Amino acid sequence: MNFATQLSQPSSLRRLIRNATLILSMDPTMGMGELGVIEEADLLLVGDKIAAVGKDLRADGGEVVDATGKIVMPGFVDVHNHLWQSLIRGCHADQDLIGWLESCVFPLANPAITPSETEVYAGVRLSTLDLVMTGVTTVVDWSHSFSPAFVRGNIRALQESGLRFVFAYRGTANPAVIDDMRQVKKDLIDLHPRASFQVASHPGASSRLLPHLQAMSSLATELGVKLHVHLLENIAQRQDDVIEGLVRANAMGPDLLGAHAIHLLDEEITLLGQKDVRVAHNPLSNMRLASGIIRLPALHRAGVKVGLGLDGGTNDTSDMFNTMRVAVGLQRATSLQASVFPTVSEILRMATLGGAEVLDMASRIGSLTPGKQADVLILDPGRANFAPRLNWINQLVFNGQPVNVDWVFVDGQPLKADGRVVDVDLSPIMQAAETGARRIKEVLKIP
Ligand SMILES: [Zn+2]
Repeated sequence: MNFATQLSQPSSLRRLIRNATLILSMDPTMGMGELGVIEEADLLLVGDKIAAVGKDLRADGGEVVDATGKIVMPGFVDVHNHLWQSLIRGCHADQDLIGWLESCVFPLANPAITPSETEVYAGVRLSTLDLVMTGVTTVVDWSHSFSPAFVRGNIRALQESGLRFVFAYRGTANPAVIDDMRQVKKDLIDLHPRASFQVASHPGASSRLLPHLQAMSSLATELGVKLHVHLLENIAQRQDDVIEGLVRANAMGPDLLGAHAIHLLDEEITLLGQKDVRVAHNPLSNMRLASGIIRLPALHRAGVKVGLGLDGGTNDTSDMFNTMRVAVGLQRATSLQASVFPTVSEILRMATLGGAEVLDMASRIGSLTPGKQADVLILDPGRANFAPRLNWINQLVFNGQPVNVDWVFVDGQPLKADGRVVDVDLSPIMQAAETGARRIKEVLKIP
């Protein structure tokens, strides 16, 4: 099924997910506990919406998906990623953030080396397929936006993926770039039913960084969208006076999304809470790049909304189960407390509804509340890595893998069915990504 035929299907199409053994609705008003747990029930999707959750719902001639023995939950929300970076998977795994950026990312800003529209398309399309495999239904793609062609290839792949996406366009104070950002939002994002826009920048108070940050903060305000920055990811970035720069750019507020937020002082954590600044936590990337460990319990106490992110090529996997497991494990390993924030329930919430709250999208996605968009997963716990049933909620975090994701629906349309991505020919995408990666490896002399 391609994008066009998905859109041409009647909006009243009914799909009944029948007889799920366990439903995690993420809506406490619908079931037990914080995760809104419901045993043995059906989920009815009508068009692009969740119509009902309950017992003995009727298909009325619609399609039926048997979920006997399965777990049903909302799709994962990935609040920080760089999808083109599948082209540089495995690049300089022996370097920290600064070294990795200088070896694997910054040289690509040179127009002679920048990935072509075709290469970006292939890399992003490959990443979107990887996201579907793990059950991500909404992704925020912080795009380096090296050129207008890069931006077009990037967005074309996102549009074709069927995913709900947020395109974060990294811009500068250059008026031509700002014009293109306005144009892209108007022509390629606003008209698309599953797309939204963010302004991406890099923060600091120096004369090198501040004018760009100020221009991007103003543009985000003008467009009514979030400003998305990397926030004190590496300890060396303390010298950039990042918080000072954000304050001077008038960016501290609920429309600021900061990725990583690792090297914060106590008073800065308090400030993030007071200003309702949002945070993206990317634990696998933080380990790979020797960045450090986020102070999640302190951020939680300060009232900061945090979502989970996969963070592109610095993660080298799109496994959201692995990300949840590591987010829990890092806090336990450093606090020596098994009860520390986030618990299993708290991380499942963070990976779904919590991410939606970070993006201010919780009225539309993040839980299986009727009326919300039908972004739904059906998981098979009956596999060697997951069975038998002892406590499925714990097992989701500690045993779950992408292989357990059987069905993925976005807006009621299946992107993965019976464990396979729907109607996508993988081989040309793989081949184009392979060609792009080989070129980059050669020009950057990557070992
Ligand atoms: Zn990042």
